[in-house]
Amino acid sequence: MDVRLFRRRLLAWGREHRRSFPWRETDDPWRVLVAEVLLQRSRGKTVAKVFEELFRRWPDAAALSRARESSILSVIRSLGLVRRAPALRAMARDVDRRGGVPADTEELLALPGVGRYAANATLVVAFGQRAPVVDGVTARVYRRYLGLASDLPASTDAELWRKVDEATPRGSAREWNWAVLDLASEICLPSRPRCGDCPLVEQCAYGSQVA
Ligand code: SF4
Repeated sequence: MDVRLFRRRLLAWGREHRRSFPWRETDDPWRVLVAEVLLQRSRGKTVAKVFEELFRRWPDAAALSRARESSILSVIRSLGLVRRAPALRAMARDVDRRGGVPADTEELLALPGVGRYAANATLVVAFGQRAPVVDGVTARVYRRYLGLASDLPASTDAELWRKVDEATPRGSAREWNWAVLDLASEICLPSRPRCGDCPLVEQCAYGSQVA
């Protein structure tokens, strides 16, 4: 893999095609953390509506920690995350007790409902750190580009996490993560990737075979 070319082309494309979401317009770690938790298994556009309503009703962790579970559930129900309402409130209580969202992987992973994806995405987006961010969506792009054949869930694919760690640039990990997500949403589609429109096609293991 020519990692510098991979980064250069994808970052350039990402700057031109960046989608707008409320959690991309804030540097509040609490809002970023909540967004990353809600984004697990849910589409950005769907989460955006829920995100706005959630923060309209409970603007910070202290407020959400005092909310009724049934009220939280009524807001997030459209995401199909019924069991996440108690976890969200527990996370709010823990963050409020700590005095804020921790900027540390292990401490983030200790929060209720926070897995490796949400922890690393929060470090990258809210705190500007460099960390690999892998979920089912970004895994699709990386596996195709790198020619990695695996049936493992993205969360447990150690080789994939290692490769993504190698590819993620220092100093622009936030923009990199957004670019991978945006490419997955607009170009590297699940069943019919638009390889002819992709900035990575010449180097992509999959795209160079089919385009
Ligand atoms: S060339 Fe095709 S398969 Fe490869 S990253 Fe681009 S859209 Fe995805």
